[in-house]
Amino acid sequence: MDKLVALCKRRGIVFPSSEIYGGLGSTFDYGPLGTELKRNVKEAWWRSTVQERADVVGLDSAILLHPRTWAASGHLASFADPMVDCKGCKQRFRADDAGGPRCPRCGGELTEARSFNLMFKTFMGPVEDTAATVYLRPETAQGIFLDFAEVVDTQRAKLPFGVAQIGKAFRNEITPGNFIFRTREFEQMELEFFVRPDPQEEARWFEHWVNARFEWYVRYGISRERLRLRPHAQSELAHYSRGTTDIEYRYPFGWGELEGVAKRGSFDLDRHSEFSGRDLSYFDEATRQRYRPWVIEPSAGVDRSILAFLLDAYAEDVVEDEKRVVLRLDPRLAPVKVGVFPLLRKAGQPEKAHAVFDLLKRRCMVVFDAAGSIGRRYRRQDEVGTPFGVTIDHETMQDDTVTLRYRDSTKQDRVAIAALPARIDELIGWED
Ligand code: ATP
Repeated sequence: MDKLVALCKRRGIVFPSSEIYGGLGSTFDYGPLGTELKRNVKEAWWRSTVQERADVVGLDSAILLHPRTWAASGHLASFADPMVDCKGCKQRFRADDAGGPRCPRCGGELTEARSFNLMFKTFMGPVEDTAATVYLRPETAQGIFLDFAEVVDTQRAKLPFGVAQIGKAFRNEITPGNFIFRTREFEQMELEFFVRPDPQEEARWFEHWVNARFEWYVRYGISRERLRLRPHAQSELAHYSRGTTDIEYRYPFGWGELEGVAKRGSFDLDRHSEFSGRDLSYFDEATRQRYRPWVIEPSAGVDRSILAFLLDAYAEDVVEDEKRVVLRLDPRLAPVKVGVFPLLRKAGQPEKAHAVFDLLKRRCMVVFDAAGSIGRRYRRQDEVGTPFGVTIDHETMQDDTVTLRYRDSTKQDRVAIAALPARIDELIGWED
């Protein structure tokens, strides 16, 4: 983990935020390469969750929602005090009620106190009083529930269907840490999938989404052995959940949640109907019945996914007697797809290399690098996961072919410049 954190900082992937002011507790910035990686991870999720399906649409709701939202969702009530949980009997206590380091009920070990005033508060408008208090959303999901009727009406959506959203969420975590695993500002990729209120229908879609989401991580390069499913015990279920299974990754600090798939039932639509006075029900034309659908929610963290993709890709090997660090990222996720290198800084090679750069830049992220020995330039791209290198040399000037080098095998091929765009597309594997 330390090596990865150092690499991320050294190469501008992810680094502590506000460093010139000494940093701000556990907030991170994604640098130029990390920004590309993050875009690609979100794109990959969007592709499989929205684009490739006929039954899911997207949404981009506001971060600041009406404060009643959080009364209805239960976040205001359940996030109100520092709490401790007993690791033994799972009983939850207010920290001050526990009265000591051990569980007052069974004597078991207690977790660290977590403030359930987890929501960041701020004020809307010029007056800073309770009437103007608004919250930064602690999950993106609620925006989807608030807009349920809007989506059904405007999209003529028929069950089962889902609404997907990617966006920032904020939690005033008491114990942030492990790099970007737990931070106070993070990004979520959430889907609320609405189904008929029927236990069989719910079970069927729950299984579908647990599998689909597990396979998504595998599809983009995470090894199966480092993934597992962990169903929650009844006692650890969130207040809204009728059943949750976590997809966990084996981080260097142990198994940790990557994503939670929860059965939210009709909890949220019920509560928002009650609190807003607007009936958020659905009219089923087939049965001529009106009801509030049940929800299956796969909720993934962008940052935790990125951490898992990076950890899984990180490798050290030896190439030509030299130690090398390489990120074996799936080409579709890699921040830069192709490095373009003129072997010499003369003899027309840089100009030719710029022409190749221009040829490829419309299809994918490309970098141009003319500095240092060719071996050094390859290594620089290997350690940030660039899957392909294109070298322009004296032969290029004669026959318009280039050397195409592969990050993982370090093997090299000779390819005609004219054939390069199609070859790169094929190698990236966009259509998969
Ligand atoms: P944890 O138990 O680790 O605090 P959680 O069960 O509270 O997580 P959920 O409410 O299920 O998390 O949120 C869904 C997803 O959002 C998580 O699986 C995770 O990927 C991401 N996430 C939640 N909290 C954080 C955080 N503080 N930093 C980064 N990602 C987070």
